[in-house]
Amino acid sequence: MLTIKNLSVEVNNKKILDGLNLKIESGEVSALMGPNGSGKSTLSNVLAGKYGYKITSGSIIFKDSNLIDMAPEERASKGLFLAFQYPVEIPGIANSSFLRSSINSQRKIKGEGPLNIKKFLEQTKKVAKELEMDEKFISRELNVGFSGGEKKKNEIFQMSMINPDLAILDEIDSGLDIDSMKIIAKGINNNRDPNKSILMITHYQRLLDYVKPDSIHIIYKGKIVKSGGFDLAGTLEKRGYKEFYETENENATQ
Ligand code: ADP
Ligand code: MG
Repeated sequence: MLTIKNLSVEVNNKKILDGLNLKIESGEVSALMGPNGSGKSTLSNVLAGKYGYKITSGSIIFKDSNLIDMAPEERASKGLFLAFQYPVEIPGIANSSFLRSSINSQRKIKGEGPLNIKKFLEQTKKVAKELEMDEKFISRELNVGFSGGEKKKNEIFQMSMINPDLAILDEIDSGLDIDSMKIIAKGINNNRDPNKSILMITHYQRLLDYVKPDSIHIIYKGKIVKSGGFDLAGTLEKRGYKEFYETENENATQ
């Protein structure tokens, strides 16, 4: 689904990603964990095609295409979705209008006609119900006045409506109460599919317990320093990121 090789990225002449390698297979749910400032959001933004990042080396192949050459909307139409760590508020635009125009512009790139409005609205109601979201959120202005947790839930609502091949969820569990965490996990699990993949960025064991990712990758200073199975999360929870700092110090004194 996604193969990243030797990716280095700079922002404002500062190297943030430094030779990062990561592979995500079809059907795989992966978690990306790492200390603050290690480059997790930078990686998500680079994958989504946000401007302002300079790719100095490496390749990103998404479903057999070179992602780096594609505009953000083209990436989305190819099936890539990013839930932002800090979802933006857009006053004056209803949540449903935003979602419908996103879906329609992706369909247009694929040469498909616009969605049937009635079917779209029925689907929004169905998904809102699954996520135990009040239907009022569908017509409210996008994220305006939403609480932190409501914004996160709305990202999962958008993901469920868009049905992407690869969803990247940046700290989707931050600021969530326990019930919302369970609902978000349910939304993620509903999106599981042998032909689709999910990369979730998280700091917490709890979401991992509910979703049980197939693989866990640890990022430190812009590279993946360790990859493993679900049990890696338990080790991290006990020992923190200390061993990675120690490895670095040992190398420094050699
Ligand atoms: P994470 O999501 O892992 O906490 P980020 O990817 O947000 O980390 O940031 C990685 C590093 O890059 C941090 O040190 C951050 O300050 C720096 N960084 C990110 N964006 C910019 C920017 N626009 N200008 C300067 N530094 C940035
Ligand atoms: Mg971040």
